[in-house]
Amino acid sequence: MESALETARAQLRRAVELLELTENDWQTLSTPRRILEVAVPLRRDNGNVEMYKGFRVQYSTTRGPSKGGVRFHPTIDMDETVALAMLMTWKCALTNLPYGGAKGGIAVDAHTLSLAENERLTRRYTSEILPIIGPERDIPAPDVGTDERNMAWMMDTYSVNAGFAVPGVVTGKPIVLGGSLGRTSATGDGVAISAIEALLVKGIDPKGATVAIQGFGKVGYWAAIALENLGLKIVAVSDVNGGVTGFKNVNELWNHFLANNNLNLPGTDKLTQEELIHLDVDVLIPAALADAITEKNASGIRAKVIVEGANAPTTPGGDAILNANHILVVPDILANSGGVIVSYFEWVQDKQNYFWTADEVKSNLNEIMMRSFREVEEMARTKKVSWREAAHMIGVARVAEAHRLRGLYP
Ligand code: NAD
Repeated sequence: MESALETARAQLRRAVELLELTENDWQTLSTPRRILEVAVPLRRDNGNVEMYKGFRVQYSTTRGPSKGGVRFHPTIDMDETVALAMLMTWKCALTNLPYGGAKGGIAVDAHTLSLAENERLTRRYTSEILPIIGPERDIPAPDVGTDERNMAWMMDTYSVNAGFAVPGVVTGKPIVLGGSLGRTSATGDGVAISAIEALLVKGIDPKGATVAIQGFGKVGYWAAIALENLGLKIVAVSDVNGGVTGFKNVNELWNHFLANNNLNLPGTDKLTQEELIHLDVDVLIPAALADAITEKNASGIRAKVIVEGANAPTTPGGDAILNANHILVVPDILANSGGVIVSYFEWVQDKQNYFWTADEVKSNLNEIMMRSFREVEEMARTKKVSWREAAHMIGVARVAEAHRLRGLYP
């Protein structure tokens, strides 16, 4: 199976060919601008010291400061971080945000950390990458294994060093520290907007349409809530330990999960990840990790529409099968862009010290998502390419144009 970086580079290569860009463009677009690996020492609560690897990749800063999440996950490495930072670059360009793309993280299982250990690790990581982040340079955000608490510690560590509060250094912060209304649910809200629009394109009435979601975290949960509120039926969800079906509504399951840290709600049935992926539903939402849909399981997928909440959940082999089976795939850089869009709103509000209402956030999110959605749909139709190819073409073309207009220094 190809690595995440090989997949991302192949997608870029394809976009460069479709756009008929030059070999010079390929060289410029396929090279990450800044890569930093740091050692992050952690004093455990028992006094032992452990060393962790931390990463920050600024793939592009051509259209503005770089922007991207911080992931705490045991398997993260530099190649995967480069791949995810590359995807962020095309995502920000596709949605026309004034940002480049970045990603970062620590190779650690966040579940093994106490709260105090998590705070020490986050603060030390922030201090190690401090010289290259900042509201005008690179703005981290939450990703897998991190949340608004980590962002509060990052903001505080940066601010203590600056000597004054710098809320704009990270997004996805708690509201009282300069976070934005609507940020917590933004990625899931955007996934829901994408699902509704994709169903309409397929001629399926969203009311009563059925949905299965892999991953019940920040993206999966909020997507489930948004879709349920819009009248769709969430029939199954899964987390790292497996899936569940037969619950009455999403919040009933969520409340059980919060109280018990598992999805074993009495009266429901278990199912495996593979069973969930192969359910006969209208919408399948992979919202966990990369490589969920591969050439091994794609042919059994019966969903009419796949909305990629996760980053890079489909391998090229899986993608080819889905395309051959006429399953509409709303690609990650469009489907999960709600998070970075509202992160952008948060950054704008922090810069202006003026905060928006929840309705303003929602309506501006909707406007940008719908504009991007229509652009991708039109590109796919006119160029006769998949939605993934269309989305990459739009994002890559904007970055290539920015490179051309800025020129090459010296
Ligand atoms: P999270 O840590 O909040 O949730 C991840 C969920 O996936 C959890 O329910 C976890 O149990 C589950 N999971 C982990 N491994 C799994 C496996 N092997 N099989 C099935 N489920 C598994 O993370 P998140 O923020 O919801 O991010 C999920 C995905 O969405 C990631 O790919 C992330 O990069 C992407 N994403 C997140 C955001 C955001 O705003 N949080 C924005 C854009 C994209």
